Amino acid sequence: MKNVGESLCAPKFEEYFGLIKNLLHQRVNFRTPRAFVRTYGCQQNVSDSEKINGMLLAMGFELAQGCEDADIIVFNTCAVRENAEDRVFGNVGALKALKKRNPGLIIALCGCMTEQAHVVERLKQSFPFVDLVLGTNSLERFPELIYKILTEKKHIWPSKTECDTYSTDANASDAQVYEGLPIERASKIKAFLPIMYGCDNFCSYCVVPHVRGREKSRSAEAICEEFSQLIGSGYKEVTLLGQNVNSYGKNLDERVDFAQLLRRLDRTPGDYWLRFMTSHPKDATPKLINVMAAGEHICHHLHLPFQAGSDRVLKLMNRGYTRQGYLEIISYAKAKMPDVCLTSDVIVGFPGERYEDFCETLSLIKEVGFTSLFTFIYSKRSGTPAAEMDDPISEKEKSAWFRELLEVQNEITTRQCQKYDGEVVKVLIEGKSTKKGSLTARTQGNMIVDIAGEEDLVGKFAMVKVTGVKNWFLTGEITAVL
Ligand code: SAH
Ligand code: SF4
Repeated sequence: MKNVGESLCAPKFEEYFGLIKNLLHQRVNFRTPRAFVRTYGCQQNVSDSEKINGMLLAMGFELAQGCEDADIIVFNTCAVRENAEDRVFGNVGALKALKKRNPGLIIALCGCMTEQAHVVERLKQSFPFVDLVLGTNSLERFPELIYKILTEKKHIWPSKTECDTYSTDANASDAQVYEGLPIERASKIKAFLPIMYGCDNFCSYCVVPHVRGREKSRSAEAICEEFSQLIGSGYKEVTLLGQNVNSYGKNLDERVDFAQLLRRLDRTPGDYWLRFMTSHPKDATPKLINVMAAGEHICHHLHLPFQAGSDRVLKLMNRGYTRQGYLEIISYAKAKMPDVCLTSDVIVGFPGERYEDFCETLSLIKEVGFTSLFTFIYSKRSGTPAAEMDDPISEKEKSAWFRELLEVQNEITTRQCQKYDGEVVKVLIEGKSTKKGSLTARTQGNMIVDIAGEEDLVGKFAMVKVTGVKNWFLTGEITAVL
């Protein structure tokens, strides 16, 4: 196992697994201790939680179904919008009663919220029963710190003096690339594969660069190795992860860009789909689109967040592209892949946004025809430039714009779904649906299809005839299992 991070005080995390196992054995007689990890936020957090679960299993815990029956609870938090933070605070508060009932319970917080000084302060003041607060770039220290809690019975709060790698002052340290951490993946069919960490873009509204630190790419070799292992062990879909996958490779000695990495991975033999997210429009190139179009396994799905339709707002957001530039790359993608499905993120009510600007957002979504849209009302994040900008539009007005946007997009989504009515499409069957005897599948464009079928088909590719459209998803019948 090697660590290619640059941290000088990087511990040998694997040594702690055995030590903790022994300790726990002595501590909880005749019962395997249980751990529960709750994940908030994006796919990067889901992926980090898979590593936390992997480490917990290596320490000798088994995974619990919820907080109630756990001996250690980890909340992997999200700071991207205020309501995500509020939810975490509420849920941490609810743990107080559990801790009272079971003083041996370990409560740990990690993820993006823990990198903000004001959050740590509030936790200290209002939730002193939390045992461990771990920064985003210190995952590898998790076993060591759990060992410290178990042996020294102390609370561990981040501080600059203790160790820089888990300081949570408002500016996060550089993203770290750790190789070799154990992973307990949530699915046996679909896997996330992080190719880079952190972000250098500093969009003016966004807290991510402040809490995740500077961008760092994993080596192409490490990615290809993990990818081959995944495909070799039967995974049917791999999603490459990064805040801005299009800038992959910039910090590496090796000269490799994202399009080259994608092409290299796509050459791996096997029966699988390859996806990636998130692409940033300022770095999305025709070269990338060409690789997608020519690929054997690469899904014709492009998630390309535009955030706003007006050049004035895009500039205030520091996004680094214009409406025209965005539409050009979209046109190129449509020309090269007529079957491409486009999805995006959009923010409504950015400080200083006027109704005329918002109308440009509406016209952009009509022009592009996204199959689905992740829509957010602007949320003020302290420490970001946008938090200092004048924001005269009321929340009520922003909510009205938001509803208008949803109405327009819902109609577009339905129209996009209707295009598939009567068509035969390839899908990956992902799991049982809530309806008995029914399965959930996805097209390569990431559209959901509800089909009748038994559980033994889960994890298989199939051809499906689309027989109906229910607003944002399709229904269909299997014509062939592949
Ligand atoms: N790196 C990705 C997105 C990361 S955050 C990218 O650049 O596309 C996911 C989404 O959350 C963003 O695309 C944006 O639409 C939204 N978001 C981020 N900060 C926000 C804020 N302060 N208020 C509202 N939405 C925000
Ligand atoms: Fe945030 Fe922009 Fe980085 Fe995405 S690219 S994580 S929106 S700063």
